[in-house]
Amino acid sequence: MRKIEKSEMIYSKARNLFPGGVNSPVRAFKNVDSEPVIAEKGKGPYLYDADGNRYVDFILSWGPLLLGHAHPYVVEVVQKVVSQGTSFGLTTEWEIKLAEKIKEFMPHIEKLRFVNSGTEATMSAIRLARAYTGKEYVVKFNGCYHGHVDYLLVSAGSGVATLSLPGTPGIPEEVVSKTLVLEYNDIQGVKELFEKYGSQIGAVIVEPVAGNMGVVRPVDGFLETLRSVTDKYGAVLIFDEVMTGFRVSPGGAVEKTGIEPDLVTLGKVIGGGFPVGAYGGKKEIMEMVAPEGEVYQAGTLSGNPVAMAAGWATLDYLQKNLDKWHKVVEKMREFYEKSKDRIRGATFVQEGTMFTMFFTEREPRNFKEVSQQDKKKFSAFFNYQIEHGVLIPPSGFEANFLSLAHTDVLDLYWENSVKFFNSM
Ligand SMILES: *Cc1c(COP(=O)(O)O)cnc(C)c1O
Repeated sequence: MRKIEKSEMIYSKARNLFPGGVNSPVRAFKNVDSEPVIAEKGKGPYLYDADGNRYVDFILSWGPLLLGHAHPYVVEVVQKVVSQGTSFGLTTEWEIKLAEKIKEFMPHIEKLRFVNSGTEATMSAIRLARAYTGKEYVVKFNGCYHGHVDYLLVSAGSGVATLSLPGTPGIPEEVVSKTLVLEYNDIQGVKELFEKYGSQIGAVIVEPVAGNMGVVRPVDGFLETLRSVTDKYGAVLIFDEVMTGFRVSPGGAVEKTGIEPDLVTLGKVIGGGFPVGAYGGKKEIMEMVAPEGEVYQAGTLSGNPVAMAAGWATLDYLQKNLDKWHKVVEKMREFYEKSKDRIRGATFVQEGTMFTMFFTEREPRNFKEVSQQDKKKFSAFFNYQIEHGVLIPPSGFEANFLSLAHTDVLDLYWENSVKFFNSM
């Protein structure tokens, strides 16, 4: 058993200070009957906890750390920038540098605006889409997460695809009354919904490869259908690439699928481990944002130079080392191919640098299918991994992440997995 005394002591203090002892719910490890990991430091693919245990880290701060922990290039650039002042509330050249770098990976983005989180990005993109179209309804998909925006925190009403219910207490029903929810990959449902509400729908927001219910791929024709109906009815199509950006392909889901949305939201990787989000896309729409247009959106720390520099260093390194991105992705796939016959009662899904081991018989296509997972088995799998030096997200409804520093340490995950499945 690993040592956890110091971590337990820290967590007991945290419980008196923060609801559930944490500042974001999933960090409490409630789903897996485990004490939360208290992180102390990271280096490359490794995370060290407060008791000095070392793990190969597949959480990677829930996605941002595409280069791994404390990458020397990012650290160097950040240290230099920090020493010159941490915030000005004025434009600095770092915003331009990061924006240009993002556009090199995602040329479909004509103009963009930096914010401080993925939540802010989706919230602002939807405000803009509603203003641009003059239409209020928003379509989202069950199991896709777009941050904790009130009207996007909805769950599907049982049986009735289009009825949405507040996903948490504290959100009035009126606030979600303009949100329509469908199952992911429900092509027919999309067409029917637009036939009924098309004239009132201002935006469709979707994770082009879902990551927040575990990695769920779009079926052939799903994203194409979203593009064609939004074009036909004059709605704004928003790809939420906060997670998939630079991960399912270096250029994100747009590069991978060839389908271009009107707006895209970004976060996670573009902050290189600092709080950053962005929304952007077609010039004609983005020019409605204040002060060029009338759609208000602002932020005291938006475009913070330290965060911009960390994001720029991350993408600059990625651009110069694309071979490493492809290498870790291929290596992961090879390990899976070698091990797949020994994985029983589970389905491994990988898209680029994101993957999930689902405890289902078949690859899930929507949230309902993901929900059929054997949660007890997942919990046992999590605990086996953590006791054997591997940290995976403490929920079966999450994506796991690879970094460019993971290429030579993937064997432990697969060794553990094969032993776990053999013992069942
Ligand atoms: C993480 C995430 C968000 C929210 O980003 P925060 O920075 O946590 O607010 C939004 N959309 C998607 C797809 C995400 O993965």
